[in-house]
Amino acid sequence: MSEHTAFIGLGSNLEDRLSHLAAARDALSEWVTVERASSVYETAPVDLPDQPWFLNQVLIIRCALAPFALLEACLTIERRLGRVRTVPKGPRTIDLDILLYDDLVIDQEHQGLRLTIPHPRLHLRRFVLVPLCELAPERKHPILGRTMIELLASVPDEAEVRLYVAPGGR
Ligand code: ADP
Ligand code: MG
Repeated sequence: MSEHTAFIGLGSNLEDRLSHLAAARDALSEWVTVERASSVYETAPVDLPDQPWFLNQVLIIRCALAPFALLEACLTIERRLGRVRTVPKGPRTIDLDILLYDDLVIDQEHQGLRLTIPHPRLHLRRFVLVPLCELAPERKHPILGRTMIELLASVPDEAEVRLYVAPGGR
């Protein structure tokens, strides 16, 4: 069974955000091995500013799933956790994005689903690069050839990303 390493970005800005992240990690464990999790960060919304702040986290996983099977698992978990797509870039109970998958570069459509890896906005988003740098600062972006720490140093996004300490220290 071939094993792959992927980075998954989690985000939530509705209801009990921390519980949604935990539920997504638990659900992912049914399909993959969650090897490491970054800290949780509280982040200002970027694409559509007039919505609640997010909690974001990045996971390193190992899996035998092919890229589209991993995407389907992510979309299944989003549905299971009650994600409803209303406004594009709008509030969501949970978002799971495949950020990196080995050193794969892919941009394909399969059975009506689009999959782009590396995630096309990974290098533009502080809320992705900060947790990624916590886990793998020296990992190279397979298209840009620059490390995550280099990408963070030059990211144009200035939206706030702060370490999240849950009320009551949860
Ligand atoms: P966003 O994460 O940009 O806010 P959505 O979560 O609504 O947007 O994702 C919409 C679609 O993006 C998914 O249905 C999926 O087909 C597609 N997509 C393309 N590349 C990826 C990726 N690397 N990870 C997750 N979804 C992706
Ligand atoms: Mg998404």
